[in-house]
Amino acid sequence: MWLSLKAAHQRLVDLTHHTTVPAYLDHVNRYTFAAASHVLIGDTAVRGYKHRQQWRFLDREIQEAATRFAGLGIDPGDLIDAGLHTGRSRTWRSRVWQWISQGTYESELPQAQYPSDLPVGFSGQQLPEAFTRRTIASTRPLALMTWSGEVWLIPRAYAAVLDRAAEVEAGLAEQDKVCSGCGALAGREQWRSSSTAGFVTLCPSCAAQASRPYTGHMRGRKYTKTLAKRSPAEVFLCRMCPQPRRAMYWDHCHSHGLLRGPLCVKCNNSEGAPGFLDHPGAVEHLLQCTGCRAERTLPLHHRSDVVRRLAVFEPHAACTHELSWRYFCVEADGSVVARFQCYQHHPDLAWSVTVPSDEVTLLVRRFIHEASDSGAAWATTA
Ligand SMILES: [Zn+2]
Ligand SMILES: [Zn+2]
Ligand SMILES: [Zn+2]
Ligand SMILES: [Zn+2]
Ligand SMILES: [Zn+2]
Repeated sequence: MWLSLKAAHQRLVDLTHHTTVPAYLDHVNRYTFAAASHVLIGDTAVRGYKHRQQWRFLDREIQEAATRFAGLGIDPGDLIDAGLHTGRSRTWRSRVWQWISQGTYESELPQAQYPSDLPVGFSGQQLPEAFTRRTIASTRPLALMTWSGEVWLIPRAYAAVLDRAAEVEAGLAEQDKVCSGCGALAGREQWRSSSTAGFVTLCPSCAAQASRPYTGHMRGRKYTKTLAKRSPAEVFLCRMCPQPRRAMYWDHCHSHGLLRGPLCVKCNNSEGAPGFLDHPGAVEHLLQCTGCRAERTLPLHHRSDVVRRLAVFEPHAACTHELSWRYFCVEADGSVVARFQCYQHHPDLAWSVTVPSDEVTLLVRRFIHEASDSGAAWATTA
């Protein structure tokens, strides 16, 4: 049986709330899985599965992890020095220490600015809720910690669980850097990419084997959800990435409703944001829309990039220096408002210039022409 993230949290709470160390999954959301394919419940890794754009867990796997964790029988009275000052950063100890310091400072405890001001026997549970709710390995460490007057105490068996959890997590992070096709190790490049089945790590050569280059055979077709389902974009490589990378979406022109081609998540996102036209191959990609190509135009939201790149603006009269700030905004009628500011005057100078729509249209034509001159014959053929 599948459990939604919320249901999985409830299941885990039900199975562990009677134990010394209850476990929670309320910190898990889809962003959790952008970084890793698993979450840790104690020292057990539990996989998240993606289905129809939603993440979920297998009930059986949640139950196994919860049963194992509850069965550890952590003795709350067997306390040891948590060793929070061992100096290494990015460990559970350094994170807990940071929470305690910040929590003490932000709490309304009289005269307690620093953890060393706290009374003997002070429990981490008394810190503000924003801190006590924080989790490591799906458990809330502060609730289990006590200030001895000199060091922070933690149940011995619980500290051991957190140490093992850190090892398991480090091992999984290594796995995520390994190509699932050939076992090659990713260096600095990102091989992890999104797919409908979750995230996959594929090196360029395995990606090239798993998906094929898009040949443009869908050019001119209307984008529909049925089409995207019948011919998943994942079958193809991203048509913009210089290195082979599996595509995720059928990118399409929203003005004409026509397909432009398969793109990976990263390239698809960048198409929606200012600055897209600075990417190599951007114009060529946008003109995969046969509507845009025939009219020698680009979708409205790219007009700000064109004006930024091609229009020449006079500085204001008092100015002999570079403008400190400029911002371009496309209006609904296709005109572009350029806003300027100059901080080097008193008071600050701010003004704007509107480039009318028909002028922007000419700039767009020029931009397309110049891009095709520097590129290949793609703009005139096909
Ligand atoms: Zn590979
Ligand atoms: Zn891409
Ligand atoms: Zn789109
Ligand atoms: Zn178009
Ligand atoms: Zn100025």
